[in-house]
Amino acid sequence: MPPDRVHTAPVPELPEVETVRRQLAPQLRGRTVLATWSFGTPKFDQAHLAAGSTFGPLDRRGKYLLAALDGPDGERELVLHLGMTGRLGVRPGPIDGPIDGPIDGPTGTHLRAAWELDDGTTFEFHDVRRFGRLAVVDHGDHDGLPTLAHLGPEPFDDAFTPASLRAAVARSGRAIKTQLLSQRPVAGLGNIYADEALWDAGIHPRATRLGTQRAAALHDAIRRVLDAGIRHGGTTLRDYRDATGAEGSHQHRLRCYGRAGRPCLRCGLPLRRTVVDARTTTFCPTCQAR
Ligand SMILES: [Zn+2]
Repeated sequence: MPPDRVHTAPVPELPEVETVRRQLAPQLRGRTVLATWSFGTPKFDQAHLAAGSTFGPLDRRGKYLLAALDGPDGERELVLHLGMTGRLGVRPGPIDGPIDGPIDGPTGTHLRAAWELDDGTTFEFHDVRRFGRLAVVDHGDHDGLPTLAHLGPEPFDDAFTPASLRAAVARSGRAIKTQLLSQRPVAGLGNIYADEALWDAGIHPRATRLGTQRAAALHDAIRRVLDAGIRHGGTTLRDYRDATGAEGSHQHRLRCYGRAGRPCLRCGLPLRRTVVDARTTTFCPTCQAR
């Protein structure tokens, strides 16, 4: 695959989405949607289906945010995915729209959807590149959202175990890096935290089987790197901002991702860059030998 077709832009992963969730949850809960606006494309135009509803708890599944809605059509759910450049935030004042283009505000980019709330604020979804999307569905009905419906277990749930990880990888037979990005063995990992976890566990990104010990090591490493990412407010390498418009700080603590050519923090030899199923991958040929 030629380099220009290799997907390199970092996207929000579980720690970034969880950071946004924790910030937004108290701002949305109990607020009723008075008015809505959306960019007129199918990925955003269901925003209006939330009109008249009241926000309940804000949950997360993998890289998806799930906002409970209680309203005239019963219990529904606003599903949000940030894609590559999506940003969410609540700012004072009513909807400014209809707007298409850069606006001033806490999230500061291209408005795609807005929900005016009954406390005088507006919840906004900005997305420059438009790889994000939203949907309003009946509560828990994800049949129309196959990527969400087929996610593997949450990394911090009891259902995610070394045995479940080992079994999922064995079933597929594909490279472990590809498996992790597929969201099937566990939900929420993207390129950054997959590279971090594999380095932490000492597992080659092209490994196709895990023994009991290595499955346990990778299971623990996945939890460790995601937890660290959450504690540091996520990783900002280019576009990601939290719900207050601030950058995360985990980019200063990455140990493998993006460090190709620099010394491995474990053995001192240079990390190497390769491509696994079209995804740029950094690893240590010594510590992550096949
Ligand atoms: Zn090393």
